[in-house]
Amino acid sequence: MRQVHTNHSLLAHNTFHIESSAGYFSEPSSIDELKYLMEYAHQRELEQLVIGEGSNMLFRNNFEGLVIHPLMSGIHKTDESDSEILVRVGTAENWDNFVSFCVDHSWYGPENLSLIPGSVGSAPVQNIGAYGVEAKDLIEYVEAYDKQSGELVSFSNQACEFAYRNSIFKHGQINRYIISHVVFRLSKKSELNLEYGNVKEYFEKQAEQNLSTLRDTIIKIREQKLPNPDEYGNAGSFFKNPVIQRSLFEDLLKRNSTIPHYSSGSNHVKIPAAWLIDQCGWKGSREGDVGCWPNQPLVIVNYGQASGDDIYRFSEKIKKSVKEKFGIELEREVKVIG
Ligand SMILES: Cc1cc2nc3c(=O)[nH]c(=O)nc-3n(C[C@H](O)[C@H](O)[C@H](O)COP(=O)(O)OP(=O)(O)OC[C@H]3O[C@@H](n4cnc5c(N)ncnc54)[C@H](O)[C@@H]3O)c2cc1C
Repeated sequence: MRQVHTNHSLLAHNTFHIESSAGYFSEPSSIDELKYLMEYAHQRELEQLVIGEGSNMLFRNNFEGLVIHPLMSGIHKTDESDSEILVRVGTAENWDNFVSFCVDHSWYGPENLSLIPGSVGSAPVQNIGAYGVEAKDLIEYVEAYDKQSGELVSFSNQACEFAYRNSIFKHGQINRYIISHVVFRLSKKSELNLEYGNVKEYFEKQAEQNLSTLRDTIIKIREQKLPNPDEYGNAGSFFKNPVIQRSLFEDLLKRNSTIPHYSSGSNHVKIPAAWLIDQCGWKGSREGDVGCWPNQPLVIVNYGQASGDDIYRFSEKIKKSVKEKFGIELEREVKVIG
């Protein structure tokens, strides 16, 4: 059976580069090993936390319970027609390696999600998205271990209840399911999605225009805008883009005629959190080793030795100032532990 480590450092398991530790830590690579771990945790009454690559987490403190880092891997084609392909992928596969694999095989769909950090198993949890594509557009079903029943269960795309940076694995019954595999439905048709932001403009500058150069384009745009977590600890967007009532938006519009916005149903409007944060003067600001990234204020950065609590307190100041200036409550996208 898989070993359980005690007092295990989580430094290599979070992209904020926070020095924190897990009371217990294990890396199961099969459902049998997961079952054993559940029994182990149950006997010792340990709280449990499932982790992928820790690129959407902030550790404020040590985690006294059991951290589970599932290692199920592999990318396998399970079905194919003239126009589509089904691919089953293990939770531990790196997301961007999977995207690269798809592009190499001329499988269309995930290319706009190039360079998003993290594991495949985490992609459905917050329904990752970028440049006009979300994981929900590609997922056929999700296989997970149900801690409550001890059974393997399968969630159709609809049963995942995907929404903006949300799913049943994040709201609903949090912590009940451990995702082992994700099955994707990908296309063989050479259709590219260039509609979002400046993607088309950048893409048209490429000498050749195909699936592979679209991936290169997305990578280039992201590299210009976002800090590389290997150099500057961060977890991507710290806050979600708030979706507010249209009546509140119309009030705000009277005072800020340039406020960027997108319709979200008939009664709601989505406002870019980066704009709100920028308007409060945070862009490029720094307090000790914590700061707002100059090219994208939605990203909070650990410039060196910041603690999880330093980052958390900095994020609370941002929340407070946005609330005071605009009356909007920012919601964290990053999962805070402790
Ligand atoms: C530089 C940077 C850029 C980013 N850009 C984007 C972006 O463009 N779009 C976007 O959507 N996100 C983005 N992110 C956020 C992050 O990459 C995603 O949220 C990613 O899916 C997290 O993967 P992870 O494996 O690191 O998850 P973790 O941080 O380890 O975990 C995230 C959540 O998933 C749960 N989880 C992990 N594995 C499992 C499992 N097997 N079963 C059940 N639950 C599990 C965890 O408990 C936690 O709640 C960015 C992050 C960084 C650092």
